Amino acid sequence: MKVTIDPDSGFCFGVKKTIEIAENELKQNSKLICVGEIVHNQEEIKRLEKNGLKTVSPNDLENLNKVDILIRAHGEPPSTYETAERNNLKIIEGTCPIVLKLQDKIGKAYEEMRETGGQVVIFGKSGHPEVIGLLGQTENNAIIINGIGDLNIIDFQKPIRLFAQTTKSKTDYHEIIEEIYEKVKFLNSDKKDFEHYNSICGQVSNRVLKLKNFCQSNEVIIFVSGKNSSNGKYLYSICKEMNLNSYFISSDSDLDETWFENVKTVGISGATSTPQWLMEQVAKKISRY
Ligand code: SF4
Repeated sequence: MKVTIDPDSGFCFGVKKTIEIAENELKQNSKLICVGEIVHNQEEIKRLEKNGLKTVSPNDLENLNKVDILIRAHGEPPSTYETAERNNLKIIEGTCPIVLKLQDKIGKAYEEMRETGGQVVIFGKSGHPEVIGLLGQTENNAIIINGIGDLNIIDFQKPIRLFAQTTKSKTDYHEIIEEIYEKVKFLNSDKKDFEHYNSICGQVSNRVLKLKNFCQSNEVIIFVSGKNSSNGKYLYSICKEMNLNSYFISSDSDLDETWFENVKTVGISGATSTPQWLMEQVAKKISRY
């Protein structure tokens, strides 16, 4: 049986950078506090915890004083930075540069919309850490839409500035953009004020086409990801669509030997939060079947 790890899977550059920052800090200090789970992958968290990483929720920051805190790749809302300043917490910035840029753009669009009475709309999963950080740039006033079915909460008579969470599907985002264009098409020309921004990260969207090919060139696909990873769920849905023999696992203990009976080629892929070492561990176990 030939087992291949998808060369285009695993950590995106934003997550890679945050993990490197954490590892460097842990070399100098025996403890490091991360605001929220550093990555949506329990296996990687367990590995870093062994080296001294501790995870706290943003609410816990009120009880901390004079310690260093790491901001993960998803970013944080301004309130976290305010609490850090109040409590003398030193920030170690691990926010992905792409997310930082997006936060800045949303903040500027919010200023503009405040003056014109318009709305900032974010296509994203409410409650997702990145979305909480983005929402914070608008004093929590942006409208969050989870999908095309939520468009009725937007007032199409008012200006609209649309953004997307970085890991959302490009196809779904384009459908939303088209639908909003349809809705504003019939307004008086002076009321038509809709702008949208390409805020979906290429590190996820560019993987889709390659992943489709990878799924078709292997009989069985094992997709390795944390259960609460948004892009993990999204990329796995692509695998399942392309190859019915696709299985979602979080660690090698989830593997089932019967999946590989009479199989000659197995492909292993993972989310932007899946460490390479974990996929290698899975590949090793499958090779022994
Ligand atoms: S998916 Fe893109 S935006 Fe999100 S952390 Fe990774 S590189 Fe940054």
